[in-house]
Amino acid sequence: MGTGTLTIDLDALAANWRALDRLSADSVETAAVVKADGYGLGAGRVAKALAAAGARRFFVAVAEEGAAVRNALGPGPEICVFSGHMAGDTEMLHDLQLTPMLNSVEQLTRHVESLPGHPFGIQLDSGMNRLGMEPAEWASVAELALSLSPRLLMSHLACADEPDHAANARQLAAFREMTDGLDVPRSLGATGGILLGPDYHFDLTRPGIGLYGGLPFEAASAVVCLSLPVIQTRELAAGETVGYGCTWRADAPARIATVSGGYADGLIRAMGPRARLYFGDTPCPVAGRVSMDLITVDVSHLDEIPAALDILCPAQGVDALAEAAGTIGYEILTSLGARYERRFIGG
Ligand SMILES: *Cc1c(COP(=O)(O)O)cnc(C)c1O
Repeated sequence: MGTGTLTIDLDALAANWRALDRLSADSVETAAVVKADGYGLGAGRVAKALAAAGARRFFVAVAEEGAAVRNALGPGPEICVFSGHMAGDTEMLHDLQLTPMLNSVEQLTRHVESLPGHPFGIQLDSGMNRLGMEPAEWASVAELALSLSPRLLMSHLACADEPDHAANARQLAAFREMTDGLDVPRSLGATGGILLGPDYHFDLTRPGIGLYGGLPFEAASAVVCLSLPVIQTRELAAGETVGYGCTWRADAPARIATVSGGYADGLIRAMGPRARLYFGDTPCPVAGRVSMDLITVDVSHLDEIPAALDILCPAQGVDALAEAAGTIGYEILTSLGARYERRFIGG
């Protein structure tokens, strides 16, 4: 049983894509972001299931990530690369037929010189100050870039998960200022941008986290379950302690279950005592510190010795676990370790 079983519901994934797709008009294309190995779930399987649901365009962070996706999808669907055309990427972009989102004049020059005629998009910086051409830079090369028929003009929102944040309208205005009147498809919104409404949809949306069941898409179906096998149990007398640093002490006789899985598997140490593992619907608190490969759990209140305990399940989804760890669902998902058996259902 190893370090536990990560069950990935491909039907829920597809349902989330369709639900996000329905939130925009029929004329708006809904792409799928599958960077970071499909948010930790397996980019190939995830991309295939999303393609079957109807996605025709996929986004990865760096060219290397395009390989697994191209392998899974075959030659048709478009695979776009957020980091653009970096030094050393040329061969991979060509061989895997990837579409770089060019982020600077330097990248544009590299692209047209090394891969003339190869498709590309342009990423514009509408205020996040992270990636993309800034307004003045764009103004200086827009004419040249547009003469080469870019496939997409895109930008990214910094605060889309906060609908009332003033940065949203500011970035929308900046993006329009840079792109209005140009005859090229445009994209601004990811999951949060879809939820901000039609002004933010343009021609193409790029959801990631919502597909995988995470906030801010509150209506998402849960995609992942993570079950950790119990390796051993211990009966403790009152006063005995558990784990590194002896931080947990039994105030009465207690039963501790040790499960396989720890911070090396993405169950980050910071979640500590606020996290729960579940036996069905019954929560069982973490007892003491999360170890590299093991978590100790107080199961004193259970009537039986469980064979396994769930750490991601209907009672505790990705965002609830993230909250216990003081982080966001994105980090929980993309930290999910390589030691789990990934079991795909549906699809
Ligand atoms: C990660 C990313 C997305 C997807 O964002 P979600 O919040 O996961 O929907 C879209 N666009 C860019 C540029 C990104 O980096």
